[in-house]
Amino acid sequence: MAIRVMCECGATYDLKDEFGGKTGQCPQCGAVIQVPAAPTPSEGADPIFDRDKFLLRQKHLAITSQKYYVHDEDGNPILYVERPHHLLRTLLAVLAAIATTAAVGLFFAVLGALLGVTGEASALEMMFVVLAVLGTVAAGFAVGVLCIKKRHVTLYRDDTKQERLLDILQHRKFHFLTGTYTVRDADEKPLAILRKHYIYNIFRKRWYCHKPDWQLLCTVKEDSLILSLLRRYLRPLSALLRTNFIFTDPQTGDVLGEFNRKFTILDRYVLDMSADPTRKIDRRVAVAVGVMLDTGEKR
Ligand SMILES: [Zn+2]
Repeated sequence: MAIRVMCECGATYDLKDEFGGKTGQCPQCGAVIQVPAAPTPSEGADPIFDRDKFLLRQKHLAITSQKYYVHDEDGNPILYVERPHHLLRTLLAVLAAIATTAAVGLFFAVLGALLGVTGEASALEMMFVVLAVLGTVAAGFAVGVLCIKKRHVTLYRDDTKQERLLDILQHRKFHFLTGTYTVRDADEKPLAILRKHYIYNIFRKRWYCHKPDWQLLCTVKEDSLILSLLRRYLRPLSALLRTNFIFTDPQTGDVLGEFNRKFTILDRYVLDMSADPTRKIDRRVAVAVGVMLDTGEKR
């Protein structure tokens, strides 16, 4: 991948990576040009990730799983993404939770009757009732969560699903306040950890992107608080107020890229990382974030 430099005179040059970080003279006007550092090649990454723009859009019709293609800027499919819903499994989990709740509730009712609990007001009896209710709810919830399947995301080269290029593993079945995911390469080596905050989501959606050692790599936030709130509470206008997410470097505050739902190319959302020419963000990680923004955030 070449480094594109532009001189003040307007001339542009595509230079080889070996000129990265060096200075040169513009053949047109003679001015000294500082060549930016070459993009860090992502070790072991497939060449399809060697680009700045990716087009994404979830298919809305799929019931059994969320699946779609990621396209390059010209609209050619380059990746196939699958995120199963596990509908049947979820239904079974709900039934199991209901059955457990009924059984445990019945157990406590019988136990209460045997102990002669009438529900009439001694402190000990009240405590029994409270414990019985809490125990019943907790048991139902626990069984439900046990039966649910995690919703991992897999990115394949194409829809034959022969070659897996990336996967995004959900850490826990049930997300309480935060949800965390690991992005892994084709050799199952961790590339990043993605973290989402459910509390912040009420006001302004945000994701955190960490290195595998939890060092913060970038934050991905909705573009503006005002727009975020309008989107939440003025649903009919939401088509006009499409969500934009901005990738920001936590140290410098620099914008590294954006996931753009406002302007679309070929009716798809645009993940545009051209603001990060040195690739602080591995493009595989950027695509993983884009997929999660697409499948994991309601619009
Ligand atoms: Zn020049």
